[in-house]
Amino acid sequence: MIGAIGEVLISKESMKFLEELTNCFGPSGFEKEPARIVKGYVSKYCDSITTDKLGSLLFTKKGSAEKPVVLLPGHVDEVGFMVSSINKAGFLTFNPLGGWFDQVLLGQRVKVKTAKGIIPGIIAAKPPHLLSAEERGKVVTKDKMFIDIGASNEDEAKEMGVRLGNPVMPDSCFSTIEKKIYRDGKKKGSDTIAIGKAFDDRIGTFIAAEVVRTLSVQKIKHPNTVVGAATTQEEVGLRGARTTAHVVNPDVCLTLEVDIAGDVPGIEMSEAPTKMGLGPSITTYDSSMIPNQELLEFVLSTADRSKIPYQLSQIARGGTDAGIIHISNAGCPSLVIGVPTRHIHAHAGLLSLSDTENAIKLLVEVIKKMDRKKVDSFTEI
Ligand SMILES: [Zn+2]
Repeated sequence: MIGAIGEVLISKESMKFLEELTNCFGPSGFEKEPARIVKGYVSKYCDSITTDKLGSLLFTKKGSAEKPVVLLPGHVDEVGFMVSSINKAGFLTFNPLGGWFDQVLLGQRVKVKTAKGIIPGIIAAKPPHLLSAEERGKVVTKDKMFIDIGASNEDEAKEMGVRLGNPVMPDSCFSTIEKKIYRDGKKKGSDTIAIGKAFDDRIGTFIAAEVVRTLSVQKIKHPNTVVGAATTQEEVGLRGARTTAHVVNPDVCLTLEVDIAGDVPGIEMSEAPTKMGLGPSITTYDSSMIPNQELLEFVLSTADRSKIPYQLSQIARGGTDAGIIHISNAGCPSLVIGVPTRHIHAHAGLLSLSDTENAIKLLVEVIKKMDRKKVDSFTEI
């Protein structure tokens, strides 16, 4: 489906927020920095802010009715690493926080957070010049890699402040590319592509914050209570989703996530159906959840009526916070709305800001009509 592609209306202030949010330090279990940035940004647009006891930040925007409670979770943790040992030669070994593909690690810069500050380093292994022909043909696995921080022995590394348990994140900076859109050889407007780390899933948190900002700034009436959530520890097993669901007790949940963009060489349509720039994705299945079908239909018909582009998606392997939230308490009608993103779980991914903006527009339209009767209808038999 194609609609108003290429209309980037995200404000300068929002862009600055997105840049700070994605650049900051926050692997799973270490989310204070991104959570504080979200808190600083949303405080003037929401009615109250609270937390669960696993570090998730919950920001509430009251509408004309207390119920239903509409939860908009986006996880603020990013995939990273943790120092697992310092060897005699001063190199650091590490365990992954979240899923990492060994092939994207070698030669990459990282930042190690210590009590004495951030130390830059490089993920390295034995150089190819010294490997046999057979060894060169094989993938180097994580357990053969180390982080080089320039130390020459254990004492030097310790003196820099390194100790076991220090978190490590990719060293990668946010930037943007302006492009003209061409389709079938014809110019079709323009788009802004963002490049950076941690889009999985700070783009979800960003969308939740922007929805609350839009409702507040444009004084939009909504017959419900909206709770945006910057959840924690998603990448290590959807942990913050569990505590968030317990605290919020939502009546309906729209989880905001990245989707795997399938417009990358080598990916079949059946593996990842969505493409960057053709609208937000709406997931019809992933391995953690089958969405509530009435909620899915309601969101699709709202998008059609509002002429907001979207793409239907399926993810055979992988899940989101909704996997836990939809089976919390007595169950919670849930759906995942995502931004197709290229190269997730790597030092840098790419996504379209027009997709991001269309996700925000769609959520605002859905929230405007999400009253108690509508939400009750999702589970009527
Ligand atoms: Zn992820």
